[in-house]
Amino acid sequence: MSTTGKVIKCRAAVLWKAGAPFSIEEVEVAPPKAKEVRIKITATGLCGTEIKMLENQMQYPIILGHEGAGIVESVGEGVSTVKAGDKVITLFLPQCGECASCLNSEDNYCIQLKQSHTSLMTDGTSRFTCKGKPIYHFANTSTFSEYTVIREISVAKIDAMAPLEKVCLISCGFSTGYGAAINTAKVTPGSTCAVFGLGGVGLSVVMGCKAAGAARIIGVDINKDKFEKAKQVGATECISPQDFKKPIQDVLVEMTGAGVEFCFEVIGNPEMVAAALASCHESHGVCVIVGLIDYGVQLNINGYLFFSGRSLKGSVFGGWKSRENVSKLVSDYMAKKFNLDPLITHTMNLDKINEAVKFMKTGKWQVPPLIFMSECLGQREGIRCVMLL
Ligand code: NAD
Ligand code: ZN
Repeated sequence: MSTTGKVIKCRAAVLWKAGAPFSIEEVEVAPPKAKEVRIKITATGLCGTEIKMLENQMQYPIILGHEGAGIVESVGEGVSTVKAGDKVITLFLPQCGECASCLNSEDNYCIQLKQSHTSLMTDGTSRFTCKGKPIYHFANTSTFSEYTVIREISVAKIDAMAPLEKVCLISCGFSTGYGAAINTAKVTPGSTCAVFGLGGVGLSVVMGCKAAGAARIIGVDINKDKFEKAKQVGATECISPQDFKKPIQDVLVEMTGAGVEFCFEVIGNPEMVAAALASCHESHGVCVIVGLIDYGVQLNINGYLFFSGRSLKGSVFGGWKSRENVSKLVSDYMAKKFNLDPLITHTMNLDKINEAVKFMKTGKWQVPPLIFMSECLGQREGIRCVMLL
């Protein structure tokens, strides 16, 4: 029996308030309105950003999740680029194709990311309800639900043969890291790179540096359990800042003679951004911030570091224009141009989402002050947990 045009009842992981565990609930998902798509999510990764969000204040109740893949169930009026039955990937970064950023070939930060209420649909309402209450959306996606409603501009159609439980990582972690090396830094053949933070995104940066032909890729992480995986995907050596008395930037400058040519901060720690920049070659070194630095957090950087020519850049979603490139990245995956398996450490059902969070962070649940967050993140076991729905 067709569900088109009808409310769908399904399971979702709802966060009712800050600090609470996810609660598996029956939710109602309204049909898609104009220019919207309803998707049956079949797999979704748990990204470092979600773990950060658990420690931030948001609007509640909310359904999180942005690293998702699924199958279109139905489309709203005026949707022309996807249809029921298509395999798709959800995009936290839309591509409207019309704004100044979309029209600029060097830019991917679609204005629709800012102009939409990301916690609600464009018309200011939610498509989710639970126990009679409207539930907020997250990051244009809300993939921790068996069904979700997303704007057409936040959906990428992909190869019908693609394994969704793998390619869901192309929805965020893989593309973000791989593209930061290839598109944002434009890593050159034979170069020396350093990657601070070897989570799912950092390992993808390592893969991007390798694909770009870097000769030396130094992984930096306080969790040495990440080193083996990093070497497997292309790091030539790995170091922990905790093994040295001197600052990590001094260690890297010593190891390389003059600093690294490309350095990536993939933690989201303002102090490590300063260290990553100082690790770069004094004139042609390029430092890219991939980690999410919370709104309002100031960087404490010695301005003189820029006099000789170093540069510091930001990168969102690896610089990829989301809709067009995600489809291509999935085709590249199908053509075996890169492997996602090393990034997936756990696969489990949505019911186990609170365990997945534990794999991603250990210790008693608490809302730590921001400053302790990196320590807490440092003890994680998981690289990526993929949830099956
Ligand atoms: P993750 O938590 O899995 O990985 C972070 C890694 O950093 C861990 O291995 C941890 O041990 C290490 N670490 C923590 N503190 C450290 C320190 N002081 N020194 C060295 N290493 C340290 O997270 P992830 O999923 O890989 O995401 C990484 C970052 O990228 C997060 O900040 C996330 O929000 C951000 N992100 C940004 C974008 C974007 O578009 N720019 C997209 C996705 C994720
Ligand atoms: Zn993400």
